[in-house]
Amino acid sequence: MKKPVMGIMGGTFDPIHNGHLIIAETVSNLYNMDKVLFIPSGDPPHKQNLKITEKEDRYEMVKYAIAGNEKFSISRIELDRKGKTYTIDTVKELNDMYPEYEKFFIMGEDAFRQLKTWKDYEKIFSYTNILIVTRSFNMTMDIHKGFDDFCSKIYVTKTPFIEISSTHIREKVEKNQSIRYLVPKEVEDYIKRNKIYINLENSNKNNLVLSDLKNKLKPKRYKHVLGVIEAAKSLSLKWNVDQEKAEIAALFHDFSKNMDFEDMTRYAAENEITFDKIESSNKELMHGRIARDIAYKKYFITDEDILNSIEYHTTGRRGMSKLEKLIFLADYIEPNRSFPGVDKLRDISFKNLDKALIDAIDGTIEHLIQMGEIIHPRTLEARNYLIEELSNQRGG
Ligand code: ATP
Ligand code: MG
Repeated sequence: MKKPVMGIMGGTFDPIHNGHLIIAETVSNLYNMDKVLFIPSGDPPHKQNLKITEKEDRYEMVKYAIAGNEKFSISRIELDRKGKTYTIDTVKELNDMYPEYEKFFIMGEDAFRQLKTWKDYEKIFSYTNILIVTRSFNMTMDIHKGFDDFCSKIYVTKTPFIEISSTHIREKVEKNQSIRYLVPKEVEDYIKRNKIYINLENSNKNNLVLSDLKNKLKPKRYKHVLGVIEAAKSLSLKWNVDQEKAEIAALFHDFSKNMDFEDMTRYAAENEITFDKIESSNKELMHGRIARDIAYKKYFITDEDILNSIEYHTTGRRGMSKLEKLIFLADYIEPNRSFPGVDKLRDISFKNLDKALIDAIDGTIEHLIQMGEIIHPRTLEARNYLIEELSNQRGG
């Protein structure tokens, strides 16, 4: 009777991608496999110098990727083994577990070329065949030259050349580029949800937001945001405010500035954001609140002070925090602004924060009057409060 056939798909799977899946599916059909076992590696000896993603994450991603294919399954034998994982131990163990199966260890050409460096590589053939698949556009059928003793155990199969690698996917995620259609949707979502491959320390999250902003905003507006970041940084140094917080608030303050009115209204409805009567007819007054929501939900900014600074940067409000004041002002005096009196205001900003803020609010109010626009009461409250405070300071 014919033996059942099993494919063994070993890999770091950091992350698993459609190349792995297409290969596994292709050979499982060609060789009438009854089962393909995916085995994420534990601590692979040939990747010692590289930083590898947490094994449970790699395991989860494989699990998601193969779900729904009844021939595919996953094994933890390498993940749960202590110390370095060697393929020889794995195939030996599999042979004990599945003695009745004819086995094919599936490898890309690139992996096969390294085979002679693997521990006890010759012994591997006592437990399994090796099935080599295409990993370049010009794979030749004599790739196993030099393995004469094992010829009967080596199968070379031309499979579709799929130019996808995990390395490439990690790089794309780090650069905030799309990996859609390169990995299954569930894997893509898992990577996003768990923020895998985003190197927060050096690529830093701010760069990701900036590249998002560049796509969303008109060039002039994007330049303005860079100006506000710069101004917020210098003001934060002067006024002893956390520079990182100032930078983040500045980065997000105009996030939704170029959204149109319909999109804003829809976003607000979908996200249960309510606006008062004045706000709801004026997109200028809506954009800060929406930017706050996006920063919170999409970029996981949870610091209340940062979020308030984003929300109130247009109107100001009674009892603004130092960070809120600073962002309001930075928006007003950033280097690209050129209205008459801006240099004087820049000067005051570095001498008296409250005085500068009152001047900026006055400027806003005058502008609104000239334009015949409604003045939001929060702006008037902000002004009144600051004047009270200033006179209290003087009085006391
Ligand atoms: P990395 O870039 O991190 O090395 P990888 O894409 O090569 O990742 P591995 O987990 O190292 O993925 O690969 C496991 C096995 O799958 C190896 O034998 C490899 O040759 C094979 N393989 C991976 N991607 C492909 C592909 N696109 N086509 C054919 N074989 C592949
Ligand atoms: Mg590889």
